[in-house]
Amino acid sequence: MSKRDYYEILGISKDADQQEIKKAFRKLAKKYHPDLNPEDKGSEVKFKEVNEAYEVLSDEEKRRKYDQFGHAAFDQNQGYGGGGGSYQGFDDIFGDIFGDFFGGGSGRRRTGPKKGQDLKIRLNITFEEAAFGTKKEIKINRMESCSKCGGSGAEPGTSKKTCGTCHGSGSVRTVQNTPFGRFQNVSTCPECHGTGEIVEEPCSQCGGSGKEKKSRKITIEIPAGVDSGSIIPLRGEGNHGEKGAPSGDLYVYLNVKSHKIFERDGYDIWLEKKISYSTAALGNIIKVETLDGSVKYKIPAGTQTGTVFRLKNKGVQKLRGSGRGDQYVKVVVDIPRDLNKEQTEAIKNVAEKFGEKIEPQKKRIIDKVKDAFN
Ligand SMILES: [Zn+2]
Ligand SMILES: [Zn+2]
Repeated sequence: MSKRDYYEILGISKDADQQEIKKAFRKLAKKYHPDLNPEDKGSEVKFKEVNEAYEVLSDEEKRRKYDQFGHAAFDQNQGYGGGGGSYQGFDDIFGDIFGDFFGGGSGRRRTGPKKGQDLKIRLNITFEEAAFGTKKEIKINRMESCSKCGGSGAEPGTSKKTCGTCHGSGSVRTVQNTPFGRFQNVSTCPECHGTGEIVEEPCSQCGGSGKEKKSRKITIEIPAGVDSGSIIPLRGEGNHGEKGAPSGDLYVYLNVKSHKIFERDGYDIWLEKKISYSTAALGNIIKVETLDGSVKYKIPAGTQTGTVFRLKNKGVQKLRGSGRGDQYVKVVVDIPRDLNKEQTEAIKNVAEKFGEKIEPQKKRIIDKVKDAFN
């Protein structure tokens, strides 16, 4: 009767947090799922083991008991844990990626007219939009070449003269004498900012900068299968460069909002479905929500709480390549609460038929008060 340790089953450490527990569970549930291993009886056993370990460790209270008493904590009452796991929203992994991506700085130094700056925007889309793809119109503000002077910075009709500092080259050399020898450094001319020319009369619209701020609407195609953290690059839609240099790019950072009932795991979708005690015991046909609408699903008699069913190809469209992920439905048996007298009697009868004696329960004060008003 030696049962394996729940932490060992899930391959996690004793101090694993809920996120790690869930991740481990999903990985193993997929690996051992009976649908995926129809030939292998052993995987079904493992699958049940994984489920049981998850049932306990994902519930902080059960986990505390397990940590304290081990398997003994659940021996007498192996059946219905009640309650079921709670939904945790998607983590904002977005923040991490955002940080990493921008750590690098603006890249190489270059001389001559500068390329326009890249722009970054965050875009929230719904769970369904990420699953099926969508088109979105976004509004951005960016620096464009001045519409009056065309980016030259000179009032139209006036002339420019060659920059005296760099003699028109746009770059300057500085020489440094150090104990290791002479070092030559080439950098953008500070006088003309790399254009090689000096404006005599600045443009009245942009004040000589050659730029003006514009608000633009841009339509973005969002492909099916994107997820939080996906980045869509739009080449050349960033700030305009200095005259003669290319525009920067626009990077759209997607954040997928969490769904009321579905949770996403890669291209798979998870759903927690409550079923009644009688459906679990006797079997039934129930309605299961999917991204494509409700489908009918046959729950077999004797279904235990925590059982996971797989609906093939009901997941998210894969970003590259064809096909869809799957939907996993974890059923949770809903134990009835607040029974009326008749229902209580009926269940007592059932218990008797199973040879179980139900001890009368002490009434709580609140129930006594309720009774007094009935
Ligand atoms: Zn201008
Ligand atoms: Zn210059």
